[in-house]
Amino acid sequence: MPTFRAPRGTRDLLPAERAAFRRLETIATDLTERYGYREIETPLLEQTAVFERGVGAVTDVVEKELFLLAPRTEEAESWALRPEPTAGIVRAYIQHGMQTLPQPVKLTMTGPMFRYDRPQAGRYRQFWQFDVEAIGDAGPAIDAEIIELALRFYGEAGLKRVEVHLNSIGDAACRPAYIEELTAYFRGHVEELPQLERDRLERNVLRLLDSKDPAMAALNAAAPRITDRLCGPCAEHFAAVKTHLDALGIAHVAEPGLVRGLDYYTRTAFEFYAPGREGQQQALGGGGRYDGLVELLGGRPTPGIGFGVGLDRVVLALAAEDVATPPETRPLAVVVGADPAATADRLRIATELRAAGLPVRAELTVRKLGKQLESAARDHAHFAVILGDELAGGQVQLRDLEAGSQQLVPLVDLARKLAAAAKSHRHGVGEG
Ligand code: AMP
Repeated sequence: MPTFRAPRGTRDLLPAERAAFRRLETIATDLTERYGYREIETPLLEQTAVFERGVGAVTDVVEKELFLLAPRTEEAESWALRPEPTAGIVRAYIQHGMQTLPQPVKLTMTGPMFRYDRPQAGRYRQFWQFDVEAIGDAGPAIDAEIIELALRFYGEAGLKRVEVHLNSIGDAACRPAYIEELTAYFRGHVEELPQLERDRLERNVLRLLDSKDPAMAALNAAAPRITDRLCGPCAEHFAAVKTHLDALGIAHVAEPGLVRGLDYYTRTAFEFYAPGREGQQQALGGGGRYDGLVELLGGRPTPGIGFGVGLDRVVLALAAEDVATPPETRPLAVVVGADPAATADRLRIATELRAAGLPVRAELTVRKLGKQLESAARDHAHFAVILGDELAGGQVQLRDLEAGSQQLVPLVDLARKLAAAAKSHRHGVGEG
């Protein structure tokens, strides 16, 4: 038999880690509800063109990292697993005529994304994002609101010291001239460029700015800055975003090299970092404004802004900061029995307790009572419901595994007693 393993760059979220994800999902759900976002779920796959157009054909995400699905027939259209959520959500916004709804349309989604990236710590081929999109508001106030929402998410998750890196990357009015100027600048230094950056120079020059190659540091520091070249409206927008952040008491780090990897961004661009980890390409999340995207995908010109939080990285950061993860769920009670073979009784009584809403496990393995009780203790159950001769008279033994006490309880009272104990978090069963 071959030994099967999860595909490279993907991993199983085992129960303890899944519980940490679940906790983050709950925080995300509560928070987005509070801020007026509604949940959407788009397919894990889209027509490849959605990403080619929406993300940009000359981006790493599309050029190198797209998971393409092998077509079943020659004429089948090309599909790809989603590398990011925004393009699909905007596709859905257009497809379902959401521009006729009151604007902005505020949508949130949490789920797996797929990028054929080189796997390393904190970089996976399947990873999870908590995503928020506000479509139909040109800002600048909502830009600040969405940044504050992301910071609140990190804070509630337990990461108190997350930094905002902020930039504006202009729009169709000012960026083309800037790109020309930047291209000319780097052409003048082409001999100093590492090979990868030389290849990118004529195709996506902005990417050179966020190159992590140390050879690029000095060149980038001296490069012309987009924030000095913004057109009037973009400069005004950027200043107003900062005023709104100031009003919320949110500090930010100006980051002129922050251009984000995807073509669709305009104006506001931001990323979130745990202090000290900036250099490792380990953003905890990022986002920005995409005022051209709806039109690019075939809708009416509509502004939008959003962010994606990398949940895998948040879980890693929480572990690095020793933030306690939730305990695994444990049963309130385990139903065990003196007669190893009487599995039907144990199953029946556990079923009744579950029907009453109680988290109860039935011991269904045929083994001695001692072994059954051991497994109940290993599960950290509060109680063992022990079925014995008394069952004929409608009674069971209720043992408090933590207090070590035990009492005879009529079956008709069992659910009520367990519910009361669960509610009061008492470790003993009272006499009443
Ligand atoms: P991006 O759109 O590339 O900025 O991605 C948004 C966020 O998703 C990033 O800030 C990371 O937290 C997370 N992320 C992106 N790519 C990966 C990956 N390959 N593995 C894990 N997390 C990722």
